[in-house]
Amino acid sequence: MHRVVDSPQGKYDVAILGGGFAGATASRQLTRAGLRVLIIEARDRLAGRMWSQPAYFDGHAVEWGGAFMLDRPSYPLTWKEIDEHDLRLDWGSLAKTKLIWLSDGQRRVGPMPVPLDELVSFERLLLRISELASRIDPIQPIEDQDVADLDVPWPSLLEGLALGPHTRELFSTHIVTLAGDPWDVPSALPLLHTIAKSGSVSAATFFAAPYDTPMARTLGPQLADGTGALHDAVMSGSDADVLLGTEVVAVEDTGADVRVTTSTATLTVEAVVCALPIGVLSGVRFSPGLSPELNTLASQGVAGQAEKVTVFVSNCPEPFYAHGIPPGGGFATASTTFHDGDRAIVVGFTSEAGIVDLDDVGAVQNSLRQYVPDITVDAVAWHDWAGDQYSRGTWSYLRPGQSTLRPKARQRQGRITFAGSDFDARLGVEGALHTGGLAAEEVLGILGR
Ligand SMILES: Cc1cc2nc3c(=O)[nH]c(=O)nc-3n(C[C@H](O)[C@H](O)[C@H](O)COP(=O)(O)OP(=O)(O)OC[C@H]3O[C@@H](n4cnc5c(N)ncnc54)[C@H](O)[C@@H]3O)c2cc1C
Repeated sequence: MHRVVDSPQGKYDVAILGGGFAGATASRQLTRAGLRVLIIEARDRLAGRMWSQPAYFDGHAVEWGGAFMLDRPSYPLTWKEIDEHDLRLDWGSLAKTKLIWLSDGQRRVGPMPVPLDELVSFERLLLRISELASRIDPIQPIEDQDVADLDVPWPSLLEGLALGPHTRELFSTHIVTLAGDPWDVPSALPLLHTIAKSGSVSAATFFAAPYDTPMARTLGPQLADGTGALHDAVMSGSDADVLLGTEVVAVEDTGADVRVTTSTATLTVEAVVCALPIGVLSGVRFSPGLSPELNTLASQGVAGQAEKVTVFVSNCPEPFYAHGIPPGGGFATASTTFHDGDRAIVVGFTSEAGIVDLDDVGAVQNSLRQYVPDITVDAVAWHDWAGDQYSRGTWSYLRPGQSTLRPKARQRQGRITFAGSDFDARLGVEGALHTGGLAAEEVLGILGR
């Protein structure tokens, strides 16, 4: 069982920098191999960008960061943990969901995302996406495939399609929700890969909305006991010591060992797993310096900058899923994840960072009222992950060119290995679990185990 310590307790074989899911996975694997491991975490808690807090408002929990467990084919390692630890799932309200679409200044309700006169344009979009996705082998790693021409932003792939304004706006909004950035920033490749794996455009995009509980359908379920339960499950298999509230400032690989300097001390270990977000790497002094690939990635940072917001509301007579571009900007997607009577919890993603003053309940209410006119906001929960000095970004979505850069950027440098979802084409927690395992294997190799 891991234990939280006030200071390093004797000599450790391995230091793990960062106690998110990547660090936790690596620590479990390394302590199971019999190594003495110290996790050094800057915050006063573990789990990094997945942070659940029980009974935040009116008895309801809040997930400040990552929360949705994607489908089994995309998230095999995550689902293995969920199954093995018997974690309970929350698929949201099972009541019929009202679908609300907002595009070209027009609000529409019903299963059809676009007005009827854009049906042909909408079908053209689906067909083009299917054709592009069919070029991707769902089994092979994306970086090994000859698909560089798909590693570009979406607008260039849809040129010449003459999409109607509603079709274009709604699809661009979908990309904004997925990537947390305007649709001309991220690469089209991750979504095309997801579509190839799921086998259909509608299963992998917001077009799944005509089904009930669309947030769960499009993004996956949440964990009923919070993502903290998943992190606890991983850590339950780790015997590491954990040092909280301790920032790593420098890492020096001498060739014979590694010296890790924190805000309070320097310790010497045989090897290091660096499981820090890429956005913070340039704030840590590495000697020798980072590889050119990793330097590029660290300076580019994570693509996603838009905000996720959890809103506790009343005057909400039915569960809803809303999607679009409100005039002047607002929530690109907003969906009830819980509904009871006229009270609900709405999870929203802004169409652009800073577009809504999320500390202003009135501003959030005005934004939501573009979709549900009488809704009343009782409380708002959000965290500024882009401004947070220990994350400097939200979830890691690929920019063009990063799918080939990332595997090289993660390559071990001497006695230092790298882990974290920001290094992986698999999104979110799955990428963290995957790379945490890879980095642990590499450390075992370095130590000759
Ligand atoms: C708003 C939001 C929504 C998301 N939605 C989803 C979702 O629905 N599904 C999904 O799968 N994923 C989602 N994600 C992404 C997911 O949360 C992350 O991919 C995953 O948690 C990253 O894990 P990690 O271990 O790689 O990094 P992190 O969780 O960031 O862990 C890195 C750790 O390093 C620590 N650290 C940083 N600097 C230092 C330092 N100098 N010294 C010591 N420690 C340091 C940090 O405090 C942190 O604990 C979301 C993320 C955000 C922010």
